[in-house]
Amino acid sequence: MLGSLQDTHAVLKRIFGYQEFRTGQEELIECLLEGRDCLGVMPTGSGKSLCYQIPALVAEGLTLVVSPLISLMKDQVDALCDAGIAAAYLNSSLTVTERTRVLQAAREGQYKLLYIAPERLDSEDFRQTASQLNIQLVAVDEAHCISQWGQDFRPSYLRIPAFIDTLRLRPPVGAFTATATGQVRKDIASLLKLREPLTLTTGFDRPNLYFAVKRPRDKDAAVLEFLRDKQRGAQSGVIYCATRSSVEELHALLTQEGFSATRYHAGLSERERQTNQNDFIADVKPLIVATNAFGMGIDKSNVNFVIHYNMPKNLESYYQEAGRAGRDGTPAICLLLYAPADVQTARFLISHSTDGSDLSLAEQATLQEKDLELLKHMTYYATTNDCLRAFILGYFGESAAPFCDNCSNCHSTFEEMDALVDAQKIISCIYRLDEQGRSLGKGMVVNILRGSKAKRISELSLDRLSTYGIMADTSADRIYKIIDHLLAVGHLGFAGSDYPTLQLAGSWRSLLTPDAQFIVKLPKEVEREKKQRSGEKYGHSSAAALTNPEDQALFERLRSLRFKLAREANLPAYIVFSDATLREMAVRRPSFKEAFLDIQGVGSAKMERYGKAFLACIAE
Ligand code: ADP
Ligand code: MG
Repeated sequence: MLGSLQDTHAVLKRIFGYQEFRTGQEELIECLLEGRDCLGVMPTGSGKSLCYQIPALVAEGLTLVVSPLISLMKDQVDALCDAGIAAAYLNSSLTVTERTRVLQAAREGQYKLLYIAPERLDSEDFRQTASQLNIQLVAVDEAHCISQWGQDFRPSYLRIPAFIDTLRLRPPVGAFTATATGQVRKDIASLLKLREPLTLTTGFDRPNLYFAVKRPRDKDAAVLEFLRDKQRGAQSGVIYCATRSSVEELHALLTQEGFSATRYHAGLSERERQTNQNDFIADVKPLIVATNAFGMGIDKSNVNFVIHYNMPKNLESYYQEAGRAGRDGTPAICLLLYAPADVQTARFLISHSTDGSDLSLAEQATLQEKDLELLKHMTYYATTNDCLRAFILGYFGESAAPFCDNCSNCHSTFEEMDALVDAQKIISCIYRLDEQGRSLGKGMVVNILRGSKAKRISELSLDRLSTYGIMADTSADRIYKIIDHLLAVGHLGFAGSDYPTLQLAGSWRSLLTPDAQFIVKLPKEVEREKKQRSGEKYGHSSAAALTNPEDQALFERLRSLRFKLAREANLPAYIVFSDATLREMAVRRPSFKEAFLDIQGVGSAKMERYGKAFLACIAE
């Protein structure tokens, strides 16, 4: 035990002036004080610094904080010193004399916290000093920098575990990050060699943020319109651009149009950057046009909107930058202006992102490949018709309702509809499984309903189920969404703990009553409908009526056949084949087994059970 828990509350009040801990803080502090490693994944602005600063103050000895940015270190050390805490930093901004002085003071035990850039960990002078320090705790801030899957990979973070190994007594290690997908989380724990860490993730959702994506023909006009609407230009806002030159151009335009805006990018002098940043923070100028160099470590709570003039390289960066809006919890807007050209810009930036680094060519290539993969997901976000919030949360590994009612997609591309028949099909599938004593996960249920030919399905003979393939003409995505709705309203629930499987729950029977309704909001399937109507994929198979009268006649005959077979099997007709499947048969007229199997909604079980009859009917 490094310190007492009563002390932590006292320190929170006395040193930091806060009344209570925020979600997650106390657990992480307690864990470190017990000498155990931890990984804290909490959104920007949630108070991660306190999670290692308080243990540092309560424990004896020194806490070493690894941090990636000079400006971040300076801010934190300034704030700590201001609160009367002995803290210092070691990074490349110090002169040799300053560095020597800091090292000397550290040896004398003058500091509670020492911030250090990862590059300095294996400098000769620090290694020598470190062996004489009483290091009680190591905190790794912005820990995602250790992962190549993170948005700002820093190779020097990889040296941290080797450094820790050189310490005589291994102190507890606390890692902290705001944005971590499952892969990054895994990387942090394994690359940092955390020992059975307590991993704590607090929710990523920021309910007060309204997410919007627009694809305007003229981005400048879109920005001006946004700022003029409701006089937003007088409120505080950040406008991110991908390049310095676009910052300059947009800043000039806004100034010319009479807005009070400042600018920020790496091409400006240190002094001007500082002045401009201060103007923005102090609300002297409400708007700032900036590259992504702006914002790390900035804690302005009244930012009302964040506009992205260009699409960023990945969702991690996007959510971090957009998340600077609305820190005080009031409603705020995050608007992304997307144009396909943004993908080109991002690709260009990625291809130059490793210029001047000391990575080998092979390492550069892997890194860029991963960056391109991340870019893909960013592009999906920019182009999806689904709920934007659900998309983001899903990306970060959280489950979310498919409709948030607080994003531009929920407000424009969703439609309210009665999905009763779909819901009944899903329910009956799970009912059939239950009869066999089986309970399967969402993915398998969707596969069964869509008539998947996956090996696992036939291995388990699931293609023999009467509900196999009954939703072959519905996209997997849509089935997932309806299942989510069924879960949300309590018609379905989860069974099992390790691997959650679906089971019928409480109210499911109400879906079978004569006046049942199942109204849900679902994304309009615009693209799909268009594709099918234009016959791009499989003729006119999904059009309501077939244009060719002969096709239509065949369709009617297939329908009677289906009716007869369904009666014999005591099944609803749609379970034998859907209308869409029959239409496709009528148009494509398969004459042999393989062609028949190729029809959407025909799986091997159906082929076996109904193939002969339908092929005969078509041949006739
Ligand atoms: P993060 O590193 O998670 O982005 P910070 O550690 O920079 O967040 O904290 C963000 C802000 O929240 C800071 O102004 C900090 O002082 C404040 N804060 C942290 N913990 C608390 C708390 N328990 N109560 C009130 N404010 C807090
Ligand atoms: Mg932080």
